[in-house]
Amino acid sequence: MRMNAGPVVKDVVLVGAGHAHVAVLRNFGMKPLPGVRLTLITREVDTPYSGMLPGHVAGHYTADDIHIDTGPLARFAGARLYQDEAVGLDVAGRRVICRDRPPVPYDLVSLDIGSRPNTADVPGAAEHALPVKPIDSFLPRFDALRARVLAGRSRHVLLVGAGAGGVELLLAAEHRLRRDLAAAGGDGASLRFTLLAGGDDILSGFPDAFRARFRAVFAARGIAVETGARVGAVEAGGVVLADGRRIAADDVLWTTQAAPADWLPQTGLALDPRGFLRVDAMLRAIGHEDVFAAGDTIAFDPEPIPRSGVYAVRAGPVLADNIRATLTGTALRPYKPQRDALYLVSTGAPHAIGTRNGRVAGGAWAWRLKDWIDRRFMRRFRDLPAMPEAATGPASPLADKAALRDISAIAMRCGGCGAKVGATVLSRALGAIVPFPRPEVWVGLAAPDDAAVVDTGGPRLSVQTVDYFRAIVDDPWRFGMIAANHALGDIYAMGGEPQTALAIATVPYGLEAKVEADLSAMMAGANAVLRDAGCALVGGHTSEGAELSLGFALNGLVARDAFLRKGGLRAGDALVLTKPIGTGTLLAADMRGLARARWVQAAIRHMCASNRRAAEVLALYGVGAATDVTGFGLLGHLVEMTRASEVDARLVLDRIPVLEGARESVARGVFSSLQPQNVRLRRAVRDLDVAQALPDYPLLFDPQTAGGLLASVPAARAEACVAALRAAGYAEAAVIGQVLARSDALEPIVLVPSEPAATHAAREAVPA
Ligand SMILES: Cc1cc2nc3c(=O)[nH]c(=O)nc-3n(C[C@H](O)[C@H](O)[C@H](O)COP(=O)(O)OP(=O)(O)OC[C@H]3O[C@@H](n4cnc5c(N)ncnc54)[C@H](O)[C@@H]3O)c2cc1C
Repeated sequence: MRMNAGPVVKDVVLVGAGHAHVAVLRNFGMKPLPGVRLTLITREVDTPYSGMLPGHVAGHYTADDIHIDTGPLARFAGARLYQDEAVGLDVAGRRVICRDRPPVPYDLVSLDIGSRPNTADVPGAAEHALPVKPIDSFLPRFDALRARVLAGRSRHVLLVGAGAGGVELLLAAEHRLRRDLAAAGGDGASLRFTLLAGGDDILSGFPDAFRARFRAVFAARGIAVETGARVGAVEAGGVVLADGRRIAADDVLWTTQAAPADWLPQTGLALDPRGFLRVDAMLRAIGHEDVFAAGDTIAFDPEPIPRSGVYAVRAGPVLADNIRATLTGTALRPYKPQRDALYLVSTGAPHAIGTRNGRVAGGAWAWRLKDWIDRRFMRRFRDLPAMPEAATGPASPLADKAALRDISAIAMRCGGCGAKVGATVLSRALGAIVPFPRPEVWVGLAAPDDAAVVDTGGPRLSVQTVDYFRAIVDDPWRFGMIAANHALGDIYAMGGEPQTALAIATVPYGLEAKVEADLSAMMAGANAVLRDAGCALVGGHTSEGAELSLGFALNGLVARDAFLRKGGLRAGDALVLTKPIGTGTLLAADMRGLARARWVQAAIRHMCASNRRAAEVLALYGVGAATDVTGFGLLGHLVEMTRASEVDARLVLDRIPVLEGARESVARGVFSSLQPQNVRLRRAVRDLDVAQALPDYPLLFDPQTAGGLLASVPAARAEACVAALRAAGYAEAAVIGQVLARSDALEPIVLVPSEPAATHAAREAVPA
């Protein structure tokens, strides 16, 4: 991982992963600015490139082809990636207000959040029309439209808005839908398509010859074009025009004039009459040196510019330079929009028509040129240069010299590494330790479990555990949630109810305001999870160190006769796992910029999911033994259970839920640093030569953070238990194997690649 070394002096927050911001990220990745921390807040972590959207709709590009993955790009830039939606900006307090997470403080903020089609002004449009933006909502809805066409339930597609985007999109849709219907044995020619233009002609603002070429294309393809057709309302079965005419249609696509984000007026920033954010020549919000913006969301004060991706792309380098110049106290440079851009508009087939400086030409060559330009653009954000080493050494060029003086006055103190110690090392190290024998200790080091159980004299027993580790994600709020969940897992695995928590936190040294912001975000995340668990945060201790770290000493309560032990596996029971595995390899891949952002975000969502309800469901279904799957990996924790229970176990590999991307990551040879220690437990696997060749074998050793519960339940109730777990939100919970009676074999674990459902059911019915 490459992060800007040293303490944070300035926080730059980029809101939206639009065309200009991806260039800013790349720019800061190429030339990091010591002391500056970037944070990208984006609604979608795969950000679409609209220039290739029509090509995707037409069937020429895959979804991956047209998206920039912000994960590796953010890593390259040393930026924190927060998947969330900004819903406001507190300009006075310098905070971005987000839909889900606590406000994100900034020293400088930049908005590149695009625009949205204006459905609000036309009654019924929001309910009945399909807007092209946000593109990520559009894509699945277009797939559903296509399915309706193929099923014969949609025969007439109408598109409102005859700008370049609308024209290109309708031609793409027509090409794809006629072709797919014909390929499915239907009559592609029977489909109807209509384009509605509110003005006198399509493609207003483009040269006459360009418009004429497209009119000819529409005529040749049998697409109706209605001009002067201003839509007054949209209904379930079509549209009503302002002049009262009705046009029936089965599906209505919507690409009318862009509208700005609806929260901009509450920011108090200067807006144009339509609500777009006014910026000066340097791309700064009028009167605010710490607020920048680019792309469709701006109204450029010096001159009107079209809302087109080309302009957002060209603004990127200027935006990056001006953010840098503001931070370093050097001169800003003006953004000079190009006088005339080359427009290449595709016609559905691999064919395009282009215009520049009033000249118009088209053909298959124009499509090839467009394809080449678009793919080259995408490559800039995919084929990132190898990351240089962490930026160390050079004096910070930041303008805020007072802050830099404060930083250098704080002594550098490094804390210990928070990495977990492997199972073998741990048991060897603790083997010689003889704790003082107290009769109140029911479960302690003599027979270690997920947590200690102590009789404190009350009606219930006390369950005690501690966990502590360094930040595994660069979002302190999420990390707080994950750390709390990870610690609580031990209490739930013992069948306990969390009662109190003491926190221990390490924060990297830095400016007071930055330390405070990170600490409060981390504790807010942790406390949200603790509150959900009914666990009171009663105190803690904080120190400075090299890395952000957090841990908890937890107390829980459990009925005297109801605590769960790892040694409670019963031959014949089914093994249930509540969450997918793979966080270790995915986080390792993320550190190296090799993981897709959507994989990492999904892993984070799983780590943020509490085990509370899973423990409740397992209790209802007669759980015999449970453990939380963490650092020793699925196999390591299962071996602990089989040893303590004196049983064997069978794991069915293709039943084990695996996080998306974990297999790809393992196939690339990316493993957590704890993996080699966990792999030592392979000695517990029977017929190792065969087992090692099985798919997913390495994932059995993958260390988990805030993993799910591995539990045994009576076989007859296992499928019902899994159904209840899924209903409770553990969508990937599964029966992953069985507990077997102890055999003569030295190795307790039997791995099988798969098992037909019938065999599986039979096994459940007949205990081994
Ligand atoms: C069908 C179609 C085809 C087009 N084809 C072309 C073309 O070929 N060439 C061209 O130049 N232009 C084209 N355009 C226009 C182009 O889409 C836009 O001008 C361009 O995308 C604007 O870029 P942007 O950087 O302003 O924002 P966008 O590209 O829209 O990016 C905005 C980003 O911000 C994120 N976001 C939005 N709101 C929030 C929020 N509140 N919080 C966090 N994140 C947020 C979004 O998820 C998105 O990632 C086309 C438009 C359409 C509709």
